[in-house]
Amino acid sequence: MKNRKTTCVHAGNSKKRLLPKIDFSTLSPITNLSDAISDITELNTGGHAQNGSIYSRLHNDTVAQFEIAFANVEGAEASVAFASGMAAITALILDAGQRGAHVLACRPIYGGTDALLSSQLLGTNIQWVTTDEISKNIRPETALIMIETPANPTGSLVDIAKVVSRCEDIPVSVDSTFATPYLQNPLKFGARYAVHSATKFIGGHSDVLAGVIACSEADAKHLRKIRIMTGANLHPLSAYLLQRGLQTLHLRVEAAQANAKIIAANLSRHRSVDRVYYPDEKDPLIGVNAQMRGTGSMIAFELSGGFEQAQKIMQTVDCIVPAVSLGSVESLIQHPAGLTHRNVSKEARKSTGITPGLLRLSVGVEAVEDLWVDLERSLRVSATI
Ligand SMILES: *Cc1c(COP(=O)(O)O)cnc(C)c1O
Repeated sequence: MKNRKTTCVHAGNSKKRLLPKIDFSTLSPITNLSDAISDITELNTGGHAQNGSIYSRLHNDTVAQFEIAFANVEGAEASVAFASGMAAITALILDAGQRGAHVLACRPIYGGTDALLSSQLLGTNIQWVTTDEISKNIRPETALIMIETPANPTGSLVDIAKVVSRCEDIPVSVDSTFATPYLQNPLKFGARYAVHSATKFIGGHSDVLAGVIACSEADAKHLRKIRIMTGANLHPLSAYLLQRGLQTLHLRVEAAQANAKIIAANLSRHRSVDRVYYPDEKDPLIGVNAQMRGTGSMIAFELSGGFEQAQKIMQTVDCIVPAVSLGSVESLIQHPAGLTHRNVSKEARKSTGITPGLLRLSVGVEAVEDLWVDLERSLRVSATI
């Protein structure tokens, strides 16, 4: 077993070539009809083709290369990549819907996931529960239990192994976007799926929209079948960029985390800040052999000046970029109640701490002194209004 850093760098390499080829073609010429028929039969059921890819909605070599690399980094048998994190989550829910019409999920969770589940658009009934309420709400038709840790936006942690132990044999999916596979591998704790918005840390440079789910090969087959039917494929260039992103994942995560620890500590001492949400290093879920190997780089904080001050900070930051999304090399600051969690119900926002005075900071890899000078100045000028 290689060190995780080495795996990040080498996960996608083969003995034959260093970098994956980018295959842009949507089709491959059919040289033998019988072979093509057996390939398409295999692909349509979520399997792998022997002879060719036929059509890029069914299979693309560049995407498949990234999937192997990602599975390696996540320590999974397989992974399936999608056009976005939401496309991945959609496939997961559609797959669950074939087993039963009931999904349990714990808040807080990414705003888009919350809205998709609450809309019941995909035909499954959603029931929101706390982790303690899971066992007693399991029904014969419960097909999936969805959690997110650390959760977006407040970074609250969920004990994956504990949740799994309460779920009988119902699959548990963990949205592990905030942690990245470098800091957390949910499958090791019994989760059936590790879900990522690869748009965030995996790409890492705010230029790729993608999602990926790590799981067993048997589960991957189901997800690939759904991807073929719904057309939620990842573009080959995006797959290439994600694979490149994987090679520096450990460096970016370590650098951003080191910065975030300092910023979180500074924020907690600032008089304009009422509360800082950042994982506690002493939490039993954090540590070299624990669920999460570090505290990550996502911080949320509650301003004493409420919405007015949040608005002013978004307008006065200079180095930190006022924008949604996260996990990029540049630091990003945004307002969850107004933006990423806008379509979460008001009551749910309130009960999970997504208040008008809450800002979320995705700490990047800039020099930490520049980030703090910027944030400190912004906190100061915003407090005077
Ligand atoms: C961004 C995000 C998503 C959705 O991913 P997209 O790539 O934007 O579709 C899902 N979960 C979490 C935790 C996210 O931060």
